[in-house]
Amino acid sequence: MSIAAVIVAGGSGFRAGGDLPKQYQLIGGKAVIWWTCKAFLEHPGISHVQTVIGAGHEELFATATKGLKITAPVIGGSSRQESCRIGVEACADHDRVLIHDAARPFVSADLISHVIAELDRSRGVVPGIPVADTMKFAPGGVIEQTVSRQSLWAVQTPQGFHMQEILDAHGQAYTQNVEGLTDDASVAEKFGIPVRIIAGRRDNHKLTTAEDIATADRLLTSYALVERPDIRVGQGIDFHEFEEGDGVILCGIKIPHDKKLKGHSDADAAMHALVDALLGALGEGDIGTFFPPSESQWRGATSSTFLHKAIDLLKARNGVVANVDITILAEAPKVFPHIRAMKALLSPLLHIGVDRIAIKATTTEKLGAIGRREGLAAFATATVRLP
Ligand code: MG
Repeated sequence: MSIAAVIVAGGSGFRAGGDLPKQYQLIGGKAVIWWTCKAFLEHPGISHVQTVIGAGHEELFATATKGLKITAPVIGGSSRQESCRIGVEACADHDRVLIHDAARPFVSADLISHVIAELDRSRGVVPGIPVADTMKFAPGGVIEQTVSRQSLWAVQTPQGFHMQEILDAHGQAYTQNVEGLTDDASVAEKFGIPVRIIAGRRDNHKLTTAEDIATADRLLTSYALVERPDIRVGQGIDFHEFEEGDGVILCGIKIPHDKKLKGHSDADAAMHALVDALLGALGEGDIGTFFPPSESQWRGATSSTFLHKAIDLLKARNGVVANVDITILAEAPKVFPHIRAMKALLSPLLHIGVDRIAIKATTTEKLGAIGRREGLAAFATATVRLP
């Protein structure tokens, strides 16, 4: 028996706020979809995980699922129903399929097992929670009547089906132009597949709003921090001189300027200070220990290489970053307009949300070498947590 999981992540989901669709926002240092994929990839009953993503989200997906052994995604359609059909068709050679929302990262192994087990007895299976609140029918926001909640369920995913049946149902919906079905159980019902409800899990809720994302992040982050009571703080300082050029690179972002920073690598002083702060917190020497300027391979190197090394050392000790704070000291160029982009770049590298990254810029009021625009400096502190 081979069972595929289709993870539907086609939505642009901006209801959750932020710059990214919700499935790509970070919770506990990883994208929502990373947690969701991991749950299915690690389940022994699942033979194949097929993701369905939105057009243009290829890079977001690649970044979000880095480190997971996952096959290439397929590109979804203009609606959830369409994306599900495309996803199911992409794994048609399996016997059964579980279809799951990418925005439900807290799906448990135990719930996946229950859906799989129930498929031996049923043609369609969905997890559901009996409705506990009193239900009102209120078109336009004014109550017209109270709806009996008896026999009413709020359904979740993963929804399980026998492959050929759900393929046929989706195929019929497609050829008959039946649209707007918001879950696969609706497609099944419409084309005569009986669907059994099993007990869902309250924590398998769908992350929909910015508040849901923030709550999920707090929860996962607090678990990660509680498991790592050893708090370490490190600092890093870096100065670089200017030379003729067309821009300076700070925290991985190139800022147009009539100078560039002189140095062996890309001379990203802010990133260098950050790497030293992380290495300092780990008691691991400094950036020059790992990347000696005497070695020609680091000439022109992108400083994110150095940051990756520091994060690898941290991971090897099962540590996490709790926060970083960077101050850039420069008379010019103006750093402030680029801070948002810098935070967005650092967030996935450090596996923390942008709310745990501070980047500040200040001048020296024209005092000293920096005041004379001969170069700039960067200072960083980093807090890491170790077990
Ligand atoms: Mg340096």
